[in-house]
Amino acid sequence: MKKHMNIPIFIPHEGCPNDCIFCNQRKISGSVHTPSESEMDAIIRKHLESPALEREIAFFGGSFTGLPVSEQEKYLQIAEKYVQQGRVKGIRLSTRPDYISSDILKLLGKYSVTTIELGIQSLNEEVLFNSKRFYSPETAIQACKLIQLHGFSLGVQMMIGLPGDSLEKSLMTAKKLIALGPNMVRVYPTLVIRETELESAYKSGRYKPMSLEEAVFWCSQIIPLFDDANISVLRVGLQHTDDLQKGVEVVAGPQHPAFGELVYSEIWYSRIVKEIDKGPEKPGKHMTIHVSASEVSKVIGQHQKNLKQLKNKYGFTSIKVLGDQDTLNQLILEFYE
Ligand code: SF4
Repeated sequence: MKKHMNIPIFIPHEGCPNDCIFCNQRKISGSVHTPSESEMDAIIRKHLESPALEREIAFFGGSFTGLPVSEQEKYLQIAEKYVQQGRVKGIRLSTRPDYISSDILKLLGKYSVTTIELGIQSLNEEVLFNSKRFYSPETAIQACKLIQLHGFSLGVQMMIGLPGDSLEKSLMTAKKLIALGPNMVRVYPTLVIRETELESAYKSGRYKPMSLEEAVFWCSQIIPLFDDANISVLRVGLQHTDDLQKGVEVVAGPQHPAFGELVYSEIWYSRIVKEIDKGPEKPGKHMTIHVSASEVSKVIGQHQKNLKQLKNKYGFTSIKVLGDQDTLNQLILEFYE
């Protein structure tokens, strides 16, 4: 049985006044369907049938708090009904940092909103400007603090590879986010979506998307920072069913169905290399890697990439990976002649 389940309700931000270069909401507005009350009920009831220890209703897709207050309340009231019936634990939503104020948070506080996720994307001024986000890093930081002050759990979302971004800038964004002490994070590599300004920039050669290898490498440097700070990493990379809705077509960019798996494989590779380098100068011809069962496929890597690289680098003739450890993070290496 699933421990936690989010019941996803996609609320497109029709009439969004912003024009972020990576987003096609304005262009497709009108063709994307906003769920009616009965459709929302149907989605929620359907999810209530699946077994889970706890559930939350999650509004995502646009900037929830940028909607007119009457609409926000309409959606919140529908969700609240299920919380009051004891069938759902709470409500979560995502929005932009510049759509957060004390008044908005007081409104959300009247309902059982537990978590607010902010699409921060970057804390670098130039990257925000290039992406037409048009809020400052300071605004984003203040929004995080205000959310925490009002007692909500804070989720942050960052994008890597936006125009003008670099690994250093993304690492700096991650470090500044960590200093704010969010409860959770999602890291998205930038994809070029059809009918966006980024698509025109890409087609005219003004924007070069990250390669898959680059995006995986950047994430492999960023994710351990959040892990080490005990900030729960909810997602690395986009999930087609959730984030890429109908009407969203990817033209270019580091898209891979198992993006997160590739990132964790890369993280394991670096960790194993570090561990071997700490050990004896000549580690032997055979190596056994002990990790927890859930990590075995990540340690091996897609098409055995990690094992091949380790054999090439250290001259091992055989490497065994055993899933016999108790904890997720445990790593034990044994070498044999
Ligand atoms: S990313 Fe959000 S704020 Fe920006 S244009 Fe799209 S819906 Fe509007």
